[in-house]
Amino acid sequence: MPLPPLGDTIAAIATAPGVGAVGIVRLSGPESYAVAERLFAPRSGAPVAALPPGRVVYGRIVDAATDETVDEALLLTFRAPHSYTGEDVLELQTHGGPAVLRRVLDLCTAHGARLAGPGEFTLRAFLSGRLDLVQAEAVLDLVNAQSDSARRNAALGLSKALTEQLGLIQDDITRVYGDIQAVFDYPDEGVPEAAFQAPLERALGRVRGLLSTARAGRVAQRGARLALIGRPNAGKSSLLNALLGYRRSIVSSTPGTTRDYLEAPVDILGVPVTAVDTAGIRDTGDAVEASGVEAAKEIAEHADLGLLLLDSSTPLAPDDRALVGELSPARLLVVASKSDLPPAWDPCAAQRELGVGPVLRVSAATGEGLGALKEAIRERLVGDAGGSALWLTNERHIAALEAVREHLERAKAAPDDLAALDLEDALKTLGELTGRGEVAEETLAHIFANFCVGK
Ligand code: GDP
Ligand code: ZN
Repeated sequence: MPLPPLGDTIAAIATAPGVGAVGIVRLSGPESYAVAERLFAPRSGAPVAALPPGRVVYGRIVDAATDETVDEALLLTFRAPHSYTGEDVLELQTHGGPAVLRRVLDLCTAHGARLAGPGEFTLRAFLSGRLDLVQAEAVLDLVNAQSDSARRNAALGLSKALTEQLGLIQDDITRVYGDIQAVFDYPDEGVPEAAFQAPLERALGRVRGLLSTARAGRVAQRGARLALIGRPNAGKSSLLNALLGYRRSIVSSTPGTTRDYLEAPVDILGVPVTAVDTAGIRDTGDAVEASGVEAAKEIAEHADLGLLLLDSSTPLAPDDRALVGELSPARLLVVASKSDLPPAWDPCAAQRELGVGPVLRVSAATGEGLGALKEAIRERLVGDAGGSALWLTNERHIAALEAVREHLERAKAAPDDLAALDLEDALKTLGELTGRGEVAEETLAHIFANFCVGK
């Protein structure tokens, strides 16, 4: 997969396919103004090539071959290097709609522009140094963000938050590397061991800190699975409906009627979650019920978090205790359901007896405790990273930082001459990560192939 050529002028429809109020065709490259000159007539009569940057100019799109007016349009002007790509850029805003945009694009290519490939504008932004690779990828994440937390995180990446962190790590490693080189060059002068250790520790701490956000980042990006579990009639379907805010699953008071399971997307305070309502789990001879039980256990196993409902209006049963034992405490959140009814047991006592975390009192009927439950779910899924911190979401970034961590850990343990080799590797990996060092063309082509055309 070779990279597309640079230096020519590219054009693409920048708005999403389909009918829209406004559509945008974007041009980038040295011939942008010359191309636009041949297809856009400003009402003022001014020549396009002479337009200053930062203007919005009203005019007509004209097909010079037939003298036909294709549409009315606004032209936005940018000049190198102050544009998205760092090149001369023009944006033509026309009426939305596939026919208009297609025709404008055809005129662009007829007058000397080339159709842009996927992500080619952003690739040029990277190659011209306007964005580093991590920021370029954040553009892609931003466009693809499905939830508000994913959007916020991508925006942080684009705003250089990750780039800055990586820069600090790089500075510390570079310093240690330089000090070790100095020892090689002037062995008699010597540099105290401690002088290496502090910046090395600091860099390692930063790398570990970033890596610890990876789980939260994955959740923000892809969403998490939340399994509702509990005996029949514990209130699972009712709670799912309450979380959804509308009736979705079938609520029935006959035990065991929820045979199968049902999935529904829920937004938990900005975190995209797929809630899975399981059949009641209990030992039973009934074949249909048993298959539901198996399914429930399986779902709980594959979920990021299990929400165990214990009916607070009836005494705890052996099944409840058995369920707690089946599930790993780290991935379990326990709820005392139906808190609007007179309690049959005390949540605090149950917490101690069952050896679980805090038991949250929730009523699907009145909505009591729902807010606190959402907070708890979010906290368990994204942890501290749910605050203002930046999350690692990109597999490439995670893999690179894991490699950097390994190099740094080895360097810390190794004698100076070997440490230098690991530090070199760590710096090389960081350079590939930000794209400021050497990056394989293959890597670049792969990254930008995931973009849409026009971005
Ligand atoms: P599931 O079998 O675990 O899915 O339980 P359901 O959601 O089907 O609820 C079983 C019964 O408990 C139904 O009659 C519900 O109306 C009732 N129920 C569920 N949640 C609450 C609640 O918060 N308060 C009260 N009072 N009843 C509830
Ligand atoms: Zn149910």
